[in-house]
Amino acid sequence: MTLSAKTDYDVVVVGGGPAGSATAIRLAGAGLDVMLVEKARFPRQKLCGEFISPECLEHFAELGVSGDIKLAGGVDISETVFYSRSGKGVAVKSEWFGQVGSHALGLSRAEMDDVLLKRASEVGVAVREETTAAGLIFDDDRVIGVRLKDKEGLETPVTATLVIDATGRTRSLARRLEKDAGQQKRAGHVAFKAHLAGAQIAAGACEIFAYRGGYGGCNSIEHGLFNLCFIADAKDVKRCGSDAERVMREVVCTNKRAAAVLQNVTVESEWLAVPIERYGRGELVPAQGLLTVGDSAAFIDPFTGSGILLALESSRIAATAIAESFAAGRDPETLAVEYQRKYSSAFDARLRVCRILRHAASMPFLADATISMLRASGGLSRRVARATRLATRSA
Ligand SMILES: Cc1cc2nc3c(=O)[nH]c(=O)nc-3n(C[C@H](O)[C@H](O)[C@H](O)COP(=O)(O)OP(=O)(O)OC[C@H]3O[C@@H](n4cnc5c(N)ncnc54)[C@H](O)[C@@H]3O)c2cc1C
Repeated sequence: MTLSAKTDYDVVVVGGGPAGSATAIRLAGAGLDVMLVEKARFPRQKLCGEFISPECLEHFAELGVSGDIKLAGGVDISETVFYSRSGKGVAVKSEWFGQVGSHALGLSRAEMDDVLLKRASEVGVAVREETTAAGLIFDDDRVIGVRLKDKEGLETPVTATLVIDATGRTRSLARRLEKDAGQQKRAGHVAFKAHLAGAQIAAGACEIFAYRGGYGGCNSIEHGLFNLCFIADAKDVKRCGSDAERVMREVVCTNKRAAAVLQNVTVESEWLAVPIERYGRGELVPAQGLLTVGDSAAFIDPFTGSGILLALESSRIAATAIAESFAAGRDPETLAVEYQRKYSSAFDARLRVCRILRHAASMPFLADATISMLRASGGLSRRVARATRLATRSA
């Protein structure tokens, strides 16, 4: 790819979550000059179920972080058990998703994201923490850079051939280009997360609890702690005075299994809370010169435990398409078409399956019926579980 004027970087990636760091690491590995901008200082807590799907371990190996992830002290997870409100469970084996004998990992995002960000620095990416991308720079309709704001409020323009929006669900750059930018969307759900001690879940399991208006998940993480993360209907949250612990007791614990697991827990961290406004796909190329990856491109339903995987897979697809474009001197339009084609063929079917399952999970009767049906057939639960993923080697 070429631009008429010399730019500061080939690519500026905004957002240091798994999508942003992985994209930056892969692009630097392909010989590109990359800047990675992150508004927080790492390590930082992040609202997430902290269930790392088995296929992510392959990405960690590709990104050169397997050793550091292991040292971070996560816990192996061999199965996820989905519990209906009445306490009936259906198990999904972790090895259905990865290679034989593979397992998922319970590890805090504070650790995982920090390992990836440090790796980006190691491979030559110019990493700027505590720096916010405050706006886009345009040449006509084409994005040619970002305005960065440091923690003192000092603004600096940085130009690049390509800008990647890896800012997560907020899509903080792509959103500026949407017609309804600036309008507040009503959040139908609110998600909460805290680290707990004393949860009584089965060893090596991630447990998911369905209840009216939402669901929650609990699994072990490092240091003998448990992550509890749940989504509740905004009306229930309001009724509980937006008190996370009350929502846990009065909403999550209407699920029988959750009530047993959480009866003696103590909360060992601050609660994090975020509104959930949207699921599914956003624009992949909101403007020429601007691509989205990770949650910024599509937010997959959290009960699939595959958002981090989607972030890592989309980073692979984007980075491969970008590196090929630079190597071949292709124009930005060709890159845009190629990225959209590869992304759609990898993810569209999976996002559709997840949408259907989400609707089933949010209706108590349907959730119970689905769990009973899957309990009756191991083969069916395996097929449904695999349909929330796809072996993407298309990049
Ligand atoms: C309730 C819930 C539970 C979940 N549980 C799981 C789970 O168990 N397993 C799983 O795989 N996935 C889970 N997910 C999904 C997972 O958290 C996301 O898919 C994943 O974090 C996406 O990574 P990302 O890099 O795209 O975005 P993020 O991880 O959100 O990273 C975006 C980064 O961009 C930074 N940023 C934002 N705006 C700017 C800006 N303007 N300038 C600079 N930096 C900026 C942010 O500080 C952040 O660090 C869950 C999600 C939710 C909501």
